[in-house]
Formats: sequence, structure tokens, C-alpha cells
Amino acid sequence: TDFQSLGLSDGMLSAVADNGYDEPTPIQQKAIPLILEGRDLMGLAQTGTGKTAAFGLPLIDSLLADNQRARPKGARALILAPTRELVNQIAKNLISFLRNTPLRVTAVVGGVSINGQVKRLSKGTDILVATPGRLLDLVDRQAVDLKSASYLVLDEADQMLDLGFIHALRRISGLVAKDRQTMLFSATMPKQINELAQSYLRNPERVEV
Ligand code: AMP
Repeated sequence: TDFQSLGLSDGMLSAVADNGYDEPTPIQQKAIPLILEGRDLMGLAQTGTGKTAAFGLPLIDSLLADNQRARPKGARALILAPTRELVNQIAKNLISFLRNTPLRVTAVVGGVSINGQVKRLSKGTDILVATPGRLLDLVDRQAVDLKSASYLVLDEADQMLDLGFIHALRRISGLVAKDRQTMLFSATMPKQINELAQSYLRNPERVEV
């Protein structure tokens, strides 16, 4: 399988080539067509398998196809990850994919001043990448409005549970759009992750690598 056969736009195919990716990884081969179809996805994959591009490339294409604008304080897609490092890495990866698009990515993490984040969010963003705790701080300050977020990605969901983010995740899931596409990635599939998937995902396609 090559990238051309997955259904991505020419823009994303150029981005992939610019990044020096020759062939899609197994998770990319399986997940990209399903995400482009609009399916909810449960992905069992470790870090380093190319997960970020697996959800990032089709997400960007979907956002471009929707042809909407982010409202002030709004986000059109929300990506949650357990740690600062991972949030920043995801954001960096996404920025490399959407360099030639009008889309904006904003990363928010704890441990740094919140004021700059409030200011940046005031204009709205297309893709918001966040750690759950800092995101809720921003929600409580009414710095961000998630109700038009119609794409939700939970990355390293097992880590988020291990770090005690379950209540944060429950709360956040009530704030994003009800009619949304959800993608959950986890390296392991304990009972708790299955329960989370059952309450968050609609008729999900399961993908394992
Ligand atoms: P990830 O699992 O998303 O953290 O990706 C791990 C690393 O693999 C990152 O440095 C990506 O840029 C890189 N990568 C992702 N997809 C591909 C691909 N199809 N070909 C080569 N490298 C890739």
C-alpha cells in the first residue's frame, strides 16, 4: 500500500512527501481510510508507530473539507494527550502537515503561564492540542469554548487514566459537540479503556498494529 491509495488530498500527499515519508506505517494504512470515512476509531498502537500522522492527516483533510472557520475561543478539533512532551510533539508534527493550509494549531499544557494561552485562544483555533488538566483550567476561565469541536482524539488513553485524568475526560466529553467523530488510541486495552471506549465512541472500528 502506498500513501496515494489511502484517499488523502493532494495537499496532504505533498506534506507527507515533504516530511520524507515514503510508505504509510501499518496503523496509517488501516486508520486513514476509516477516519476519512468519518468512522469512530479505537486504535491499539504504541508510540513510534506513526499514530500522529494516522489521525492527523485525515483530520486535517476533514477540517479542510468542512470549510468552516473557528469561532472566537472556539476549537474545531480537540486532541488530548497525557503529557506536555507529547502535546508539544503532536502539535509540532501537525504543524509540519498543515504548513500550506489556512488551518491553525494551538498547544496548551500545564506548567507554563496560562495568560499567554488565554490570549492565543481568544481568536479561536482549528486544532487544539491539550493536556486535560490545563484544558479544564482554561474552560473554567471561559477562555475556550469546545461545543463546536466535532473531532475528538484521545491519544495514549491508558496513560491518561494512569495519571488520574478520568474525571477530567468525563467532563471534557460533555463539553465537546455531541455529534462528533472520536478517535481513541491506547497502547494497552485494560477493562477501563474498554469502558471509556464504550461511553465515548459510536460504533467504532477497531484497529490493531
Ligand atoms: P509517532 O508514532 O506519531 O510519534 O511517529 C513516530 C515517528 O515516525 C515520528 O518522527 C514521525 O515523523 C515518523 N513517521 C510517521 N509516519 C511515518 C512514515 N510513514 N514514514 C516514515 N516516518 C514516519
